[in-house]
Amino acid sequence: MEKTGLIFFPAFDWAISPTHPEREERLLYTRDQIFEEGIIDHPKIIEYKPRLAEEIDIQRVHFCVPDIKSQTTTAHLISAGSTLKLADALMSGEIHNGFALVRPPGHHAMRVVHGNRGFCNINNEAILVGYLRTKYKIKKVAIVDTDVHHGDGTQDIFYHDPDVLFISFHQDGRTLYPGSGFVEEAGGPGAYLTTINIPLPPGTGDKGLLKVWREIIKPALEAFQPEIIINSAGQDNHFTDPLANMKVSAQGYAQLTAELKPHLAVLEGGYAIETALPYVNLGILLALAQEDFSWVKEPGCHSGQLAQSQEVDRYVDKIIQYWQSKLAGKRPDKEQLFGPDKKYVRQRSIYYDTDQIHEHQTETVEYCPDCPGLYTVSSQAAKHSGKNYKIWGLSIPYNACPSCVQKGYDLWEKPGSLPGYHFLYLQDKSRDVYLTGK
Ligand SMILES: [Zn+2]
Ligand SMILES: [Zn+2]
Ligand SMILES: [Zn+2]
Repeated sequence: MEKTGLIFFPAFDWAISPTHPEREERLLYTRDQIFEEGIIDHPKIIEYKPRLAEEIDIQRVHFCVPDIKSQTTTAHLISAGSTLKLADALMSGEIHNGFALVRPPGHHAMRVVHGNRGFCNINNEAILVGYLRTKYKIKKVAIVDTDVHHGDGTQDIFYHDPDVLFISFHQDGRTLYPGSGFVEEAGGPGAYLTTINIPLPPGTGDKGLLKVWREIIKPALEAFQPEIIINSAGQDNHFTDPLANMKVSAQGYAQLTAELKPHLAVLEGGYAIETALPYVNLGILLALAQEDFSWVKEPGCHSGQLAQSQEVDRYVDKIIQYWQSKLAGKRPDKEQLFGPDKKYVRQRSIYYDTDQIHEHQTETVEYCPDCPGLYTVSSQAAKHSGKNYKIWGLSIPYNACPSCVQKGYDLWEKPGSLPGYHFLYLQDKSRDVYLTGK
């Protein structure tokens, strides 16, 4: 019998503030619902106890400033570690798929971490992907983000990685936090079209969601051929969510999960604690276990209130057309995308809403015909209180060619050319080596 793994971690001791929407009650109603329906005793479901993520699991993904201790609590390590526990169970064949019902969430945490953004400090899915690639030599992974907010942290971490396909649908960034996730954000020059953003208008319901799934996401996954599919399973597209304006139901989420067939689903947002989460989570879990979910219904939910307007229909059709033609078209040559300088340079400002930090970054990626190329980031944070660290990070990618590895270490050994930084970080994903300097 194919089994579905489940980890439940409500993080009783972690909340942004007692009345903040990101608090432990988010999972308690779900747990009651799952117990009440007898799902926990279902022969196809195995419940696992969580474990802690280790320092190296986080270093593989993030430059935590000044260090991992300052950016994480035990709850963060358990939330991330739960996904790794399920990864081991998946890879050993004990389970066929799994659902980490954990918090704190992670999909707004970017590569550089100066503080908490959008309730996130470290990126659970990215840590999971790094673990699968390093420990199990998985090469190609897809992450499908079904949270109503753009998964900007996950996008950032994999923006230059041609072996990770990141697909996010979300309420349009012109109407919702974090204000990004437009179609133009389609991956760096070495990973073009491995980022797919599908911004949807407020009022999109099950119909629009499933259409986007069938006509953009499914064909994109089929073309990419990932070995593993991960679902950032945010539930705030629900019609009762207090932070967003969509019209998706538990049935819509369950149907999507049944067709997407993610290997591992990781909970992200979802703030309608009593009216959405217990039903959406139950629907997802039943869909993963390949059981009937048609009976799962939110109390007081009638189909009329979930109907999607014609205007939304038209908008959804337009974005489907956009992506269909983009993905069918000829992909420009990588060297051409890097341009005459053979170097990608991006300057940008990042705001940490929760911690009120302004970060300024300059990133570079060097063109290499044989590998994804060296990545560097120089970052300075301005905080209202505390230290304004300036850091420099260097990342040698997975599958780096020998000459890029050499170039990376040469650069690392000459910190004299890098004055004024409080901390220096080296991330060598090709050998799983991580160093910090001052
Ligand atoms: Zn999303
Ligand atoms: Zn969200
Ligand atoms: Zn190279």
